[in-house]
Amino acid sequence: MAASDMTHSEAPQQKDLDKCVHCGLCLNSCPTYRELGVEMDSPRGRIYQMVQVSEGKAAITDDYIAHMELCLACRGCESACPSGVNYGRLIEAARAHIDQNVKRPWHVAMARDFVFGSLLSTRWMLSLAGAGLYLYQASGLQKLVRSSGLLKFFGRLHEIEMLAPSAETPFFFSQIGKVFPAEGEKRYKVAFLAGCIANISFARLNEATVRVLQKNGCEVHIPKSQNCCGALHVHAGRKEDARLLAKNNIDATLDGEFDAILTNAAGCGSTLKEYDELLEHDAVYRDKAVAFQAKMKDINEFLASIEIRKPEKPLAMTVTYQDSCHLCHGQKIRVQPRKVLAAIPGVTLKEMALSDLCCGSAGIYNVLHNEMAMSLLKNKMQSVNATGAECIVTANPGCMIQLQAGARLHGKDQPVLHVVEVLDRAYRS
Ligand code: SF4
Ligand code: SF4
Repeated sequence: MAASDMTHSEAPQQKDLDKCVHCGLCLNSCPTYRELGVEMDSPRGRIYQMVQVSEGKAAITDDYIAHMELCLACRGCESACPSGVNYGRLIEAARAHIDQNVKRPWHVAMARDFVFGSLLSTRWMLSLAGAGLYLYQASGLQKLVRSSGLLKFFGRLHEIEMLAPSAETPFFFSQIGKVFPAEGEKRYKVAFLAGCIANISFARLNEATVRVLQKNGCEVHIPKSQNCCGALHVHAGRKEDARLLAKNNIDATLDGEFDAILTNAAGCGSTLKEYDELLEHDAVYRDKAVAFQAKMKDINEFLASIEIRKPEKPLAMTVTYQDSCHLCHGQKIRVQPRKVLAAIPGVTLKEMALSDLCCGSAGIYNVLHNEMAMSLLKNKMQSVNATGAECIVTANPGCMIQLQAGARLHGKDQPVLHVVEVLDRAYRS
C-alpha cells in the first residue's frame, strides 16, 4: 500500500462538532426524527452523543451504535442547517470510529469482511452473484417464492426480498475497457465510472448513459481498471477499504486527460467528490484526489452544463422527480436534473411534496433497517401518487430500486426511470 497514515483516529473532528449550536432547525428535515419523534434519533441528538463520546463522557455503547446506525446518512439535516454543520462528514467519521474501536460478533465481522472486503470490490465475485440472481429470477423461482408467501414466516425477509433488483443480462462488465466514439463532431473526452452492482442491475441504464453522452458529442471511455467507488464502505465505517478503492479509481482515470469523469449514481458521486477528505492523510494521493475531484461530475450536472442536443420528437409523458439525497443534499444539485427534463419536448414535470425527503433507500439501509425504510417508502409513495404522474424519475440506482418496490407495494406500478433514461427514450423515439 502507498504511504498512508494508518494510525490516525477516525473519530469526528472537534472543529466539525463545534459548529453545531443545538438550535434544532434541522429536526423537521430528518426522516428518522419525523418517524420516531425521538431526540436521540435526530441530527441534534446524534451530534450530542458524538460530543459525549468525543469528550470521553460516554463510552461507545450498543445504544450509541444503534442511534448512529439508524441514521440514513441522507444529509437532509445538512441542507437545513443554518450553521453549516457538515453532518455527512460527522456521521461517516462516527461510524468509522465505531469500526475502529468495537469488536463485532464473529459472524457479523465475517459478513462485513466478505461484503465490503471482497464482494463489492471484486469484479468476478459480483459477476458470480449476478449470475445467481439471474438464475433465481429467470428460472421462475422468484415468482414462486413471492406468490407462495413463504418468506412471511421469516421475519422481514418477505419485505427484503421485494427489494431484490433485477439481474440485467448481458452485464455491463462486458463494456468495461471499451471506448465509444462521439456522434458527429467530438466535443468532449469523458470517462464513465460504471459502479459495482449497477453493472449487473442497471446495465441498461449504463448503456443509455453512454448513448446519451455519444449523442452529445462525447467520446466515452470506460476505464479498464475502475472499481466500486467505495460509497457503501464509507457509509458502513469501512474507510480503509474505501481508500484502496479510491486510489484505484484515481489511478484508472487521472492520466487519461479527460474533460470530465462521470457517474450516473448520485450516491457514488457524493463519495467520489469527497476523495480528497478520504485521502487527506495520504501523502501520495492527497493532491491526486483533489485533481480527480475537480473533474468528477454527476451526469445531470454535466449535461446541464453543456448545450445538449434537443430531441427531435416529443416524448409525451408526465413525470414526478424524486431528489436523490446524495445529489440534492450531498452535492447540492437540484436544478440540473429538472433542467435536463425541461429540455425534453413533451415531458411535463409534476413536483411532489417533500421531494427531497429520503425515500428510505440509503445504500443498503433498506435491507439493514427494513422497517424504517418501508415506513419512509410508504410516505414517499403517498406524495408520488398525489401528483398523478405516470412515471417516477430520479437520479440514483439505489433510489430506483426502492421506488420500484414502492410503486409495486403502494403505487400504481408506475415505471421508475433515471433522468438519463428519459432523455435516451426521447432521442430514440
Ligand atoms: S443524515 Fe438524515 S437521518 Fe441522519 S440525522 Fe441527518 S437528516 Fe436524520
Ligand atoms: S445541526 Fe445545525 S440545524 Fe441542527 S441543531 Fe446543529 S446547528 Fe442546529
